[in-house]
Amino acid sequence: MSHPTMKLPQVIAVDGPSASGKGTLSRRLAKELGYVYVDTGAMYRTLAWHCLGKGIRLEKPMTDADEKAVSRQLRSWKVEMRVVDGQAWLHVDGYFPAKEIRSDAVEKCVPVVAQIGKVRDWMVARQRDCSTLGPLVMEGRDIGTEVFPLAPVKFFLEADAEERQKRIEGRGGSTDGAWRDSMDIHRKKGALIPALDAIRVNNTGQTPDETFAVLFGHVRERLGLPLVPPP
Ligand code: C5P
Repeated sequence: MSHPTMKLPQVIAVDGPSASGKGTLSRRLAKELGYVYVDTGAMYRTLAWHCLGKGIRLEKPMTDADEKAVSRQLRSWKVEMRVVDGQAWLHVDGYFPAKEIRSDAVEKCVPVVAQIGKVRDWMVARQRDCSTLGPLVMEGRDIGTEVFPLAPVKFFLEADAEERQKRIEGRGGSTDGAWRDSMDIHRKKGALIPALDAIRVNNTGQTPDETFAVLFGHVRERLGLPLVPPP
């Protein structure tokens, strides 16, 4: 039980499956509120990219040796979270691989990397450390359940599978979003699942502006912000 005087983390958690609108909406919320935006999917992608570069095999089924090779990287790579224009990104040797982490090769193996328990422990610890950067809008799959279970505002975004697949194709993606979601839903640790106290928002058929207005209304209410219309 949390004590009434216990300081809650200043975090807005945004979870949901692929192409549910998390990125666009979280970025906009962060900008509007002056919070730091953290894309945790980019952190998992950066690890997958780094491991591919080291020649580590990232295919299912992973052997113990494959998993150990990934864990070893977590001990040896030189990384830090750097805030650039209000957005926190994981830099490896001072470099953030913005383009590389969106490649098909990374897209295909990122859920495999994200299933490894030691990877999740490492990521969750780094994500919690982000609270020292300031108030956060953090998007991912397990933010409201694992990373910040006491976040005062939690969203779980959803949209029909067909519409989400169209969004993926619309932005040039060639991978099957359903496959990634299925891996994310069925893993043992940090599975993609709504927190019991998450506000669930299904944005099928909505424009980003419409969904943003819904989210902003909830944030205003939960955080007691003055009643100014959303931009
Ligand atoms: O959000 P994005 O599509 O970039 O995430 C890529 C992948 O990273 C997800 O499919 C999932 O496997 C993993 N991920 C995760 N936990 C998070 C964020 C992302 O497992 N909090």
